[in-house]
Amino acid sequence: QPELTGDFGTLMEWVDTIRTLKVRANAETPLDAATARKFGAEGIGLCRTEHMFFDPKRIIAMREMILAETEKGRRAALAKLLPYQRQDFIELFEIMQGLPVTIRLLDPPLHEFLPNSEAEIAEVAKEAGVEPAVVKARNAALHENNPMLGHRGCRLGITYPEIYEMQARAIFEAAVHVSRDTGRTVVPEIMIPLVGAKKELDLMKASIDKEAEAVFAEQKYSVHYMVGTMIELPRAALLAGDIAQTGEFFSFGTNDLTQTTFGMSRDDSGPFLEVYRAKGIYEHDPFASLDQAGVGELIKIAAERGRATRPGLKLGICGEHGGDPASIHFCQGAGLDYVSCSPYRVPIARLAAAQAALGGSSSSGTA
Ligand code: PEP
Ligand code: MG
Repeated sequence: QPELTGDFGTLMEWVDTIRTLKVRANAETPLDAATARKFGAEGIGLCRTEHMFFDPKRIIAMREMILAETEKGRRAALAKLLPYQRQDFIELFEIMQGLPVTIRLLDPPLHEFLPNSEAEIAEVAKEAGVEPAVVKARNAALHENNPMLGHRGCRLGITYPEIYEMQARAIFEAAVHVSRDTGRTVVPEIMIPLVGAKKELDLMKASIDKEAEAVFAEQKYSVHYMVGTMIELPRAALLAGDIAQTGEFFSFGTNDLTQTTFGMSRDDSGPFLEVYRAKGIYEHDPFASLDQAGVGELIKIAAERGRATRPGLKLGICGEHGGDPASIHFCQGAGLDYVSCSPYRVPIARLAAAQAALGGSSSSGTA
C-alpha cells in the first residue's frame, strides 16, 4: 500500500495483521481502481457496468439498443458497444493485477438511458436509421412510473438476453487477453443484479456459460470464472438456500435491500426521516448504517441458508453500508468474507475491520 506512508502507513500495516475481513472497493473507472489499490483494496467488490455507458460516445448506441424494437436491432447496437466494454475490462484487470474483480452486469433503472429531449430522440433515430416517431413510440412504451422497482437488473437480462451475452463476451475476451499477456491468473467474478429467484440466476448463468465456451474455443485459451448474485431483495435473502445451488458467491446490495425492506425510496427518503429520527422510531438513517433488526436479520438468514446449501459460500457486501464502521462490525459478526466500499473509505474500512476482529464495541444500533 505505497500511498499510505509514515505513521499512518505503519498503523495500517498493523491493522492488516489483525483483521480477518477482506476489504475491496466499488470501482468502475481506471482512476477509481488505481485509487482503491493505493488505499489497500484487495480487489473490486462491485464494478457497476451501467456507469460505463454514460460516456457521450457510448450513450447513443446504448439508447439505440434499449429502444430497438427487435433483437436484431439490439444486437447491432450491442456490436458497437462490445469493443468499449472489452477495453474497460482489460484496463480494470490490468490495474488489479490478479486481485479479484466482481463485475456486475447491467442494472440501470431504464429511464436513465431513455432519451429525454427532442434533440436526443432525433439523435437516436438518426443512429438507428428510423423515423423519430418510431423512437418516440418506443420511448413511451418503455416509460415506467416506478423505475427502481421496474424493468432493471436481471429483468433486463431475462427480457433481452443479448445484453448480458455482450457483456459476458467482453469480460471473457478481456480476461483471456490480460491473462495471456501478463501470465497472471485472472478470475472474473460475474454478478447478476436484482435476483429474486433461482430460475433467474439459472437462465443468466446458462447464457454466460455458453458465451464463455464460445470465447474460449475461439481464443484457444480459457480462464476460470465464477457466477454469483447480488442479494438485494428480501425474497432473495429468504430463498438464499435455493439460489446458492446456482450462485457461486453472494454480495449483499444493502442499498436496494434497505429500500425494499423498509419500503422506502433510497432516492428521496423525504423530510419524514428527520421526524422519525427525532421521535426515536429510527435510531439512524438506515441508508447510512445497517438496520440490524430488519436488513441485518435478512443478511444473517441469507448467509445461513446460502452456506447450508454451499458450505464456504463467499459472502460480501457492496452497498454503501460496506464503508460504515458500525455496519462493518455487523458484517464481521454475520460471517461475511469481505466488505466493499468507495475507494476513499478503504482505509477506514480496514481500521474498522481490525477493530471488529478484536471484538471492540461498535456504535451501531438498530433502526
Ligand atoms: C445496492 O443496491 O446496495 C448496490 C450495491 O447496488 P446499486 O447501489 O448499484 O443499486
Ligand atoms: Mg442495487
